[in-house]
Amino acid sequence: MARAHANRARCVAANWRGRAAPAGHYRLRGETARPTRTDSAQARALCAEVDGLRSPRNGATLAGPLDIQALESDVEKIYRLARSRKRDAWPPSRLAVTILGPTAIALVPGQLQLGRLVGSQIRVRAGLPAAITQWVIGHELAHFVRGPSCAGPDEETACDYIAAAVQMRWHVFAARLREVGHDYRQLALDFGTTETSAALRIGEVTGRPIAVVLPARVYARGELASMPDDRVRTLAAAPWPGVRKVRITDARDERTALDATRLLRRA
Ligand SMILES: [Zn+2]
Repeated sequence: MARAHANRARCVAANWRGRAAPAGHYRLRGETARPTRTDSAQARALCAEVDGLRSPRNGATLAGPLDIQALESDVEKIYRLARSRKRDAWPPSRLAVTILGPTAIALVPGQLQLGRLVGSQIRVRAGLPAAITQWVIGHELAHFVRGPSCAGPDEETACDYIAAAVQMRWHVFAARLREVGHDYRQLALDFGTTETSAALRIGEVTGRPIAVVLPARVYARGELASMPDDRVRTLAAAPWPGVRKVRITDARDERTALDATRLLRRA
């Protein structure tokens, strides 16, 4: 378990969308509190109860061997655990409290890592922007629901995916997307998330080739996920026919969202 927790700690620090924490920032000392065994056992029993749920089909692609349909199934499992209505899209904090109880979340001033799962309590660094706090909670909640047996090299990417997908629940997001179009700012506002996450979620839900290019890395969906990063950067760097580019406005660094649907799917 200790090793699993260490992995989780690395996780959030390394994969926080767009803002990698400096090396060493995820070490935490002095953790003493432990949630009660009963709370944890009850929550795990609930998880087992709803195992095997199916999720919406989709044609999205994610880099690596991750199965998006299985991840979406985990998202629906989280909502099922919270006994939410089908049309709800809840902030991860509400889901966490509903599933794990009133002490599910602790904001920890001075905590060096962004998030950490201790038993069935999610500890989040105090003072993060609201959208990032929610994402971190979603990430740790994903770890909880998937359990230690899911630990593996892709587990952090899986939990990153679930964290965003929980905030922007598939069919709720798809419905809103039909109403407002590809307006990243509006979607980020509606779902309490970041423009980067909203742009990538469009790629996941629609299968469109969408990427967000940051100074330090590239996040890509659809066909762009299988394209080398430097090629995606080339598309972002200059005007290209068939590539729609939008500057992301809510990040501290310079980043560009690009949609290459017309370029890649030209008849
Ligand atoms: Zn993690």
